[in-house]
Amino acid sequence: MASDSVIEIRGLSKTYGSGKKQTLALNRLDLTVQRGEIFGYLGPNGAGKTTTIRLLLDLIRPSAGSARIFGLDIRADSVEIHRRIGFLPGELSLWEGRSGNQIISYVASVRGDTRGIVKHADELAERLDLDTTKRVRDLSSGNKRKLGLVIALMHSPELLILDEPTGGLDPLVQQTFHEMMDEYRAKGKTVFLSSHVLSEVQAICDRVGILRDGELKAVESVEKITNVEFHWVDVTFRDAIPAGLHQELERMPSIINVSTNGARVRMRMVGDFDPLLRAISRGYVEMLHVEEPSLEEIFLAFYSGEKEN
Ligand code: ATP
Repeated sequence: MASDSVIEIRGLSKTYGSGKKQTLALNRLDLTVQRGEIFGYLGPNGAGKTTTIRLLLDLIRPSAGSARIFGLDIRADSVEIHRRIGFLPGELSLWEGRSGNQIISYVASVRGDTRGIVKHADELAERLDLDTTKRVRDLSSGNKRKLGLVIALMHSPELLILDEPTGGLDPLVQQTFHEMMDEYRAKGKTVFLSSHVLSEVQAICDRVGILRDGELKAVESVEKITNVEFHWVDVTFRDAIPAGLHQELERMPSIINVSTNGARVRMRMVGDFDPLLRAISRGYVEMLHVEEPSLEEIFLAFYSGEKEN
């Protein structure tokens, strides 16, 4: 194993169930995550992201293949691995009757260096605006998520494995989380996080892997993928689409897939809005709607090299 890789996954597979009711949740995954990077693990619901994370943490057993974290085997050395990582599960189960502080103290005592860890936990809770005196059962789901983040981060682990870390957090707290991740990387630490949210991945990740139906479809740098980002644009005119506009749009290098429906025209656009705005200003624009593409569409565009910048 190369000295700068923190996670190294080889041929990892997981089949749930038996007989006719089998689900191949992960199919021969090969993936390496380097020290000091934030790796975004993306895919639609049911793609196999949580399965991968649960395998890495030795919470479930692989059907085939293996993986190493810090050069240690995920199965044989799971205790040592758990000592050195921070983990946020997708579905948190915390002691409902205990307060945040009680849980933090307990986990800190198990990890050792209780005072140092609790002090750091207090700082993290303050930044995330979390009240740790409340019992878990009295916390909203977003606040439970924050407590999960504090517990994952409080011992400053070398590697963070986070399953959908910002699900349910409001935008300001997401921003704080992104800043925390930047600081984390600046210290040379590594983050592996799963997400559905493209904007989050673009904001904080160095590389992304896209998983679909248990298969890793691509691994790329975020920078490269962002270069081919495009938007779906819908324009509705008050009366009718101006004469000749359809053909004009089709000739524009930044626009493809033009379709019309009554007074409405829809297209895919890459790059700046200005040429399009100039073209449509010939008519009276009643409504302009811009949609981010799905991750899948971005990846497809990236791999087919459509009108790359
Ligand atoms: P999401 O974004 O919805 O959390 P995911 O990418 O994390 O999805 P997984 O939870 O890993 O996806 O699920 C992958 C596949 O495995 C799905 O088809 C799911 O139904 C199936 N699966 C997951 N856990 C089990 C289980 N315990 N028993 C049977 N099938 C399972």
